[in-house]
Amino acid sequence: MSTFSEFLQNETIRYLSGQPPLDTPQTFIIESIPEPEAVPVLKGKDLRYVPARDEQLRGGAPVEAAELEWPPAAADPGILTTYDCNQCGLTWLCGNAGEDAGEKHPQHAALSTSHDDTRATRSILVYVSGAARQRGNAAGKMAVGAFFAQTSHFNVAESFSGVDGPAGGVTNHKAEVMAVGRVLEDVRKRVLPQYRGMLDYTPGLGEVRTRLQMKYLRVIIATESEYLVESMEKLGGVWRVAGGDRVVLDRKGKEVDVKNAAQFLTIKQEAEMLAAAGVQVVYYLVQKKFNKTAAGGAKAALG
Ligand SMILES: [Zn+2]
Repeated sequence: MSTFSEFLQNETIRYLSGQPPLDTPQTFIIESIPEPEAVPVLKGKDLRYVPARDEQLRGGAPVEAAELEWPPAAADPGILTTYDCNQCGLTWLCGNAGEDAGEKHPQHAALSTSHDDTRATRSILVYVSGAARQRGNAAGKMAVGAFFAQTSHFNVAESFSGVDGPAGGVTNHKAEVMAVGRVLEDVRKRVLPQYRGMLDYTPGLGEVRTRLQMKYLRVIIATESEYLVESMEKLGGVWRVAGGDRVVLDRKGKEVDVKNAAQFLTIKQEAEMLAAAGVQVVYYLVQKKFNKTAAGGAKAALG
């Protein structure tokens, strides 16, 4: 017996021949958990992660950006309590639900809430950095470093292939944007399938709606790039790339030139695909000295 439909078929045969039903194997019950519904794509100031306004830390409604000094200064992420899970290979935010809840694998809840709530009640923290090297008129190189957790197989320290070119096209800003695009793609293609698979096949996690709730996630991208965070806030509307680097901000009907538009568009598209899968992305501006592991990975990958 290898599939749920085969199991049902065999059960039907048993029923028709008058035999008693078998106990449904736990794995087949778990397999029927639906995937999360789409969540809104965050825009504007909602894209910026600020601990002082975070619902998952406070337990209450999120604080409006207008009530805070804006833009917030680059932060020391040490004020957050987190849990580095070596089974997930992910760093989880411990929030209002308490450290015990945050450290409990595979649940890792930050916010306690009712089962029917489809808000993300858990967050992973990922440190991301991009690096670029120019040598006069010689070909430049760009690389990405990402830190998901200690000894995590999701960690990245790689140069971007196929983007080496004239030094003019290689910048630190572009590398920072490409790095985030690459990490979001990794979250979608590698992290989510692994984590959700753990939830599907871990027995004793509760009823279907409790398990479904665990699949809604928030990804906090920690970056030292003010350029990246500020640009994401500005580009949060409806926009598209029209020829080269030109971006049209449709909400205002106004065309503006934006550097690295194609790279920002990749981030936007990845964030949309993640939102369709129940995952929201926010950006956390941290001081450079707290992003050394990711930055070191990117620099090492430059060779
Ligand atoms: Zn875990």
